[in-house]
Amino acid sequence: MEYAQVIIVGGGIAGLAAAKTLGHDVKYVLLEAQDYLGGRILTVDAAPHLTVDLGAQYVHGDKKSSVYEICNELGIILSDDEDSDDETTVAMSDGKSLKSDLMDKATDLWERAREKAEEKYDERATSSPVSFADFVPGYFKKRLSSSSSISKDLIQPLTDYFMKLEMTEASCDTLSDLNLTEYVAYEDLEGEHENDLKNGGYRPFINYFKSFIPNDNRIRMNCEVIRVKFIEDDRKLLVEVNHLNEQRTKTMICDHIIWTTSLGHLKANFHSIFADEPRLIQQKQQAIANLGFGTVNKVMLIYKKKFWHRKASSIALLHMNKDRPFEISDALRQNLQVERVDSQIVQDIANMLFHYDVLPSTDIPVLICWFVGPIAIAVENLSEQLIGQICHEVLCRYLNIPQEKNPPVQILRSAWHSNKYIRGSYSYASTASTKHDRKQLAAAYAPDRVPRILFAGEATHQQYYSTVNAAMETGIQAAKTILSTIN
Ligand SMILES: Cc1cc2nc3c(=O)[nH]c(=O)nc-3n(C[C@H](O)[C@H](O)[C@H](O)COP(=O)(O)OP(=O)(O)OC[C@H]3O[C@@H](n4cnc5c(N)ncnc54)[C@H](O)[C@@H]3O)c2cc1C
Repeated sequence: MEYAQVIIVGGGIAGLAAAKTLGHDVKYVLLEAQDYLGGRILTVDAAPHLTVDLGAQYVHGDKKSSVYEICNELGIILSDDEDSDDETTVAMSDGKSLKSDLMDKATDLWERAREKAEEKYDERATSSPVSFADFVPGYFKKRLSSSSSISKDLIQPLTDYFMKLEMTEASCDTLSDLNLTEYVAYEDLEGEHENDLKNGGYRPFINYFKSFIPNDNRIRMNCEVIRVKFIEDDRKLLVEVNHLNEQRTKTMICDHIIWTTSLGHLKANFHSIFADEPRLIQQKQQAIANLGFGTVNKVMLIYKKKFWHRKASSIALLHMNKDRPFEISDALRQNLQVERVDSQIVQDIANMLFHYDVLPSTDIPVLICWFVGPIAIAVENLSEQLIGQICHEVLCRYLNIPQEKNPPVQILRSAWHSNKYIRGSYSYASTASTKHDRKQLAAAYAPDRVPRILFAGEATHQQYYSTVNAAMETGIQAAKTILSTIN
């Protein structure tokens, strides 16, 4: 039976950062179930000279952000001069567009509603959970109503828009499940919230971590850990590994494990993987159940020619008359028939589409459409061609542009929920959860008073969970704990 001092489960950034920290002298093996490293950081080649990130794309914070520091050192941060276009085009379903100063005003009011929530629902002020939906949208609507510059028929469409934006930010199915007390206590990374990366995206960042791992079979791809058991007498962990390419299982033995799989993966597999460890299940099952893990997906539309405003960095859609069905073109209707897809899905998607970002890192025209919640899961069942056509058609209708003129030349779509090794996008504080749950999730399992299984990954970070920074820092921390135990 093969022995390693440490087994790292998962080759996302938490696992890679843990490997780098353990260094060459520790005998470790990193087991990754999929055929690539990076996990929810996934940069793909979309066309010659064009890469896109299907997972993480922004670097959060530019002050004390260790991810920013590494990316800056690697020279991959897109500078402000290169990223100069910063106008949002606001297109409405009645064919009009909203002036940018009104959108700025609405953005400001939404921000103020969040600030008000912070004041009102400071951690100490409430003992029972309050959801984001309980306070912020209502307060925002009141402020909009009392603003003389915003007409009454814009109140609901603007509220819907900002609610979807917030859901995407948090990765939750509904704002009624987003814990307001916890959400307003979230500590953002200091400085600029969204720093873009140059063409190449996060790939050099992942390669940087890979470069610290010796080429001596320490990394094993297509290796899924399916069972873990602590042997009291030997004070060792038995790890059953499914070698997916060879279709057989092998057992390894180790002193410590750094477990980095996503909260979504734990929700689906925790009980079966740790079935032999009832104390561990007892320790963590509540936290795993309580914390939220939602789905955000992107659809990337790649065009030959820009047909939106030259300086626009994003396009927002305001649904003015939600009850009026979206008129499906003949071409789209035909494709729905070919793919045997019910046309209702087009209505649902048209109602949920709200925001397209222009990819700033390239001159090639690329739009990124964001989906969140149940519809984000539903779009995973459509072909890339079909979902791209729907996103394109809805956009053209709002912009009053014939959709046949500039069809997308290529479409990519992420599918984070159906990926059985991820099962969603990132964690959030649900109304059922408290800070205590996140602490429980992060706590090490020490059956013989020695930390045997250390839990890392984005969801185990106490402050800025859901980010690359969180994943990286928890991986480093877990490795440091092991180093101090070994030494
Ligand atoms: C659409 C999307 C957009 C995002 N945008 C941003 C952003 O702009 N900025 C930002 O900072 N963050 C963003 N994030 C979040 C960020 O990507 C994650 O927080 C971070 O990458 C998580 O890293 P991790 O190592 O904790 O987990 P993961 O990346 O999930 O790594 C865990 C690894 O474990 C593997 N694994 C699972 N089960 C097993 C098993 N049984 N055996 C072996 N291996 C297994 C998985 O395949 C995976 O590779 C985004 C995420 C998504 C999905």
